[in-house]
Amino acid sequence: MSGFTDFSYEAQPMRVVLRPGAAVTATPDEARRLGLRRLLVVSGPRGADTARVVADALGDACAGLHTEARMHVPAEVARRAVEVARAAGADGCVAVGGGSAIGLGKAIALRTHLPLIAVPSTYSGSEMTPVWGLTEHGAKRTGRDPSVLPRSVVYDPELTRSLPVALSVTSGINAIAHAAEALYAPDASPLVSLMAEEGVRAMAGALPAVARAPESLDARGRALYGAWLCGATLGATTMGLHHKLCHVLGGTFGLPHAETHTVVLPYVLAHNAPAAPEAMAALGRALGTDDAPHALWELSGSLGAPRSLAELGLKEADLAVAGRAATGQAYANPREVTADGVLDLLKAAYAGERPGTRP
Ligand code: NAD
Repeated sequence: MSGFTDFSYEAQPMRVVLRPGAAVTATPDEARRLGLRRLLVVSGPRGADTARVVADALGDACAGLHTEARMHVPAEVARRAVEVARAAGADGCVAVGGGSAIGLGKAIALRTHLPLIAVPSTYSGSEMTPVWGLTEHGAKRTGRDPSVLPRSVVYDPELTRSLPVALSVTSGINAIAHAAEALYAPDASPLVSLMAEEGVRAMAGALPAVARAPESLDARGRALYGAWLCGATLGATTMGLHHKLCHVLGGTFGLPHAETHTVVLPYVLAHNAPAAPEAMAALGRALGTDDAPHALWELSGSLGAPRSLAELGLKEADLAVAGRAATGQAYANPREVTADGVLDLLKAAYAGERPGTRP
């Protein structure tokens, strides 16, 4: 029980509000609590209508609306957004949308130290972390900085009703991936592990309900509750092989973020399982199974998610390149990361075979 006798835990200084309608009703309140009077609202182009509603709710406290967020925060997009924030005389920023919009809000906060309010519309979890990312010359750099951690997070189940079921499912499994790796992280701690287990339980229970009734505020609320907990575990711990592999597959081969997490997770968990019995037990309790990798594979597959890297457009010849990229540097993982082990795992994920069936 090493995790209970030797750990450190740092609480993140932020407020969280979860309530239907909160994007409109709670965002202005959060701005007032923070003493902010001129907020720049940022979103992606597809989230512009929602962001406008939030901007309208801010009334005079809105300094402008900037709807140019793009996946993986290209550096020139970040530079432009910083210019817009400065030109508007903004004293804060509200990011409305998924991980891409929140990533742009973080990029503004990183350069300007303006306080950030996040209004998430997916389950990616970025709003709960002090991690920023910027993409330049085809490479994504990431780092941790307390100034990019949102001061307030406003979860509004109404906002996620429009999230298509397919993306809801993969985004939900993306969240579960954070919690799964937090359970075996080198800096795991008891409270974070409780959040991880409960986050997986909540999300795994909510996703079938979201798929059945995407308009259900109860199902959407439970999924956001799970996203909050899973995202908090991502912010609190160091991720392992799964996140490394997905970073490579997204960054080098352009594979879609949430879908890639969904396909890869069961295979990494099957690979790591022998070296992480306590994490597997926690996942098993959350999922009501004694084979968590298989249960996750069943859950996402039964809800129509892609099951193989081939379906996502990866070429068989890319497997070895991806395997080498993911094993180039040392990083924390419960099981030793070897070139052969990772290549085997990638081959299984490429084919979409039942996880854990390879020796
Ligand atoms: P995303 O923000 O790119 O959104 C995916 C798509 O869904 C977009 O087309 C968006 O317009 C659409 N969308 C979002 N919300 C919607 C809604 N409610 N209704 C209808 N459509 C909606 O994707 P994502 O998966 O949320 O985030 C992925 C990005 O976030 C990646 O760049 C990833 O690296 C980053 N991320 C960062 C962290 C971190 O801690 N820094 C954590 C997780 C993810």
